[in-house]
Amino acid sequence: MAEQVATNITFHEGTVSAEERVENMGQKGATFWFTGLSGSGKSTIAVAVEQVLLSRGNHAYRLDGDNIRMGLNKNLGFSPEDRTENIRRIGEVSKLFADAGVLSIASFISPYSEDRNAVRALHAENNVPYFECYIDCSLEAAEERDPKGLYKKARAGEIKGFTGIDAPYEAPANAELHLKTHEDDLETCVAKVIEFIDAQNLFA
Ligand code: ADP
Repeated sequence: MAEQVATNITFHEGTVSAEERVENMGQKGATFWFTGLSGSGKSTIAVAVEQVLLSRGNHAYRLDGDNIRMGLNKNLGFSPEDRTENIRRIGEVSKLFADAGVLSIASFISPYSEDRNAVRALHAENNVPYFECYIDCSLEAAEERDPKGLYKKARAGEIKGFTGIDAPYEAPANAELHLKTHEDDLETCVAKVIEFIDAQNLFA
């Protein structure tokens, strides 16, 4: 848990109500948190889902692991502590996007249940809808795909602490959506996410 360091600070409330924001945006914001092994299909599905939502006139934005690690989180590595801080920051950012009325699609391996639960709790405390989407894929299938050649490197010992190889992945026990990308093709997975989003009563 990150500690509050600054003192003498006060939360400054705005005057815009949640209802006013929904009316303005035509939708309620929410976080759709994609978790799963590297190569499970998080980014691929997120890209397609974002495109479908934008094409329909909804407001959506992707937050993606590697992209964020090149900017906001460029000072973090893959140690357990850094992974926790990575997810904490992204959780805060995704909450802000969702609070602003955007459908935030966050794709992060996020291997530790405790870290994901902290993000879930943060959203609950702020009355921001949060949906955990488990992008499930067998290790065999992910390793077979190996879109970035990372499993090969991890097996060769060139990457240490790689999720699924020599670092743990704690599968979600209570995900709101569970996709199996080694069983369903991309098109089916995307359709399932869109159907799930549409079932949440987010659109005005
Ligand atoms: P991640 O973001 O989880 O690390 P990527 O999206 O980068 O994974 O890579 C997933 C790879 O698996 C891509 O090459 C994609 O084309 C392929 N793939 C095969 N089947 C599926 C599916 N059902 N859903 C998503 N991706 C799939």
